[in-house]
Amino acid sequence: MDLFEYQGKQYFARWGIPTSPGGVADTVDEAVTQAEAAGYPVVVKAQVKVGGRGKAGGIKLAADAGAVAKYADDILGMDIKGHIVRRLWVEHASDIAEEYYASFTLDRAAKKHLGMLSAEGGVEIEEVAATNPQAIARLYVDPVDGLDPETARMWVDAANLDPDARAQAAELMVTLYRCYVEGDCDLAEINPLILTTEGRVHALDAKVTLDDSAAYRHPEWEEYAATDTEDPREQMAKERGLQYIGLSGSVGIIANGAGLAMSTLDVVTQVGGSAANFLDIGGGANADVMAAALEVINSDPAVKSIFVNIFGGITRVDEVAQGVLDALGRVDIAAPIVLRLDGTNAEAGRQILAPHLSDRLVAEPTMLDGARRAVALAAR
Ligand code: GDP
Ligand code: MN
Repeated sequence: MDLFEYQGKQYFARWGIPTSPGGVADTVDEAVTQAEAAGYPVVVKAQVKVGGRGKAGGIKLAADAGAVAKYADDILGMDIKGHIVRRLWVEHASDIAEEYYASFTLDRAAKKHLGMLSAEGGVEIEEVAATNPQAIARLYVDPVDGLDPETARMWVDAANLDPDARAQAAELMVTLYRCYVEGDCDLAEINPLILTTEGRVHALDAKVTLDDSAAYRHPEWEEYAATDTEDPREQMAKERGLQYIGLSGSVGIIANGAGLAMSTLDVVTQVGGSAANFLDIGGGANADVMAAALEVINSDPAVKSIFVNIFGGITRVDEVAQGVLDALGRVDIAAPIVLRLDGTNAEAGRQILAPHLSDRLVAEPTMLDGARRAVALAAR
């Protein structure tokens, strides 16, 4: 789960990572109240879970209440890369001497945590990586050893930060590492981490992704779930206990097993189509699961055909076939369905379906045939 900047900063604050004083506002009046509390000048910042807010006009410096009111009014309701701004963060403005980049994330291939630190902050790190890769100091941290102050100091030296910033930055990186590990983050990123003209190092932005698999030991994450603007399809799928990921294509996909679901996506793409989702219904493909899966896919207006690709192993295809029929009795499905059923008891499954096949419910013998048919139907 991704956090908003203000939530990320509040998360940072629990470990003592310095940020600017500020508060959230959902209205113009609240923005002015928060600005008065933070002290002028302030920065009015759009809270959306997407980068590049500055360039999009979602971040403005304001010297007085009049300017705050004007910018708050401009930014609330603004569309930034498809995200509508509903909330602002208003904080005391900093005088910036230097902008740095700092982050921790997991490098799965290296089986270590990866810290990235750069004196070239404020711009997207992908851009620095592409144009000036040697400007990023990488540090691999063995999770068993952790990050000690001495290593952090050497790392900060390697990143070539301003000498005035180094001691504070090294201490801050140790703290950021603790926040990342103890806070169960997949990503803890500060861009920019700044050196102020008064010589203070602190976080001006916060990008935090929490590891959803650790949610069970963080009951306090409930509050983030409440503001999580999840894809409505994914929300619906989660409520029904399905492994679903929304995509932007037109062929809805239902498969049993993550491997088969991914292969199905590949084959649909290979024959010129595009998947509307990934959906693994797992081992149990009874009527309840099938109805839930069809319901979620049916809620997506972009879906023009549905490809149900089942290879029976422990799951018996005759049960799946019955599940599909029962589900169709319960849910009205807008798009035509293509079935490919193979594996354990496939013949029995096909016999169950045979009397019900129509131009709305089609059977194909192989995965490739099924994908072609589904893509053709989606293109009509
Ligand atoms: P992003 O564009 O979504 O990454 O938003 P950031 O919070 O990183 O802000 C973008 C840029 O706005 C920063 O890189 C700064 O240059 C500028 N900015 C943000 N806060 C302040 C501030 O307090 N003072 C000044 N002078 N500039 C700021
Ligand atoms: Mn930023």
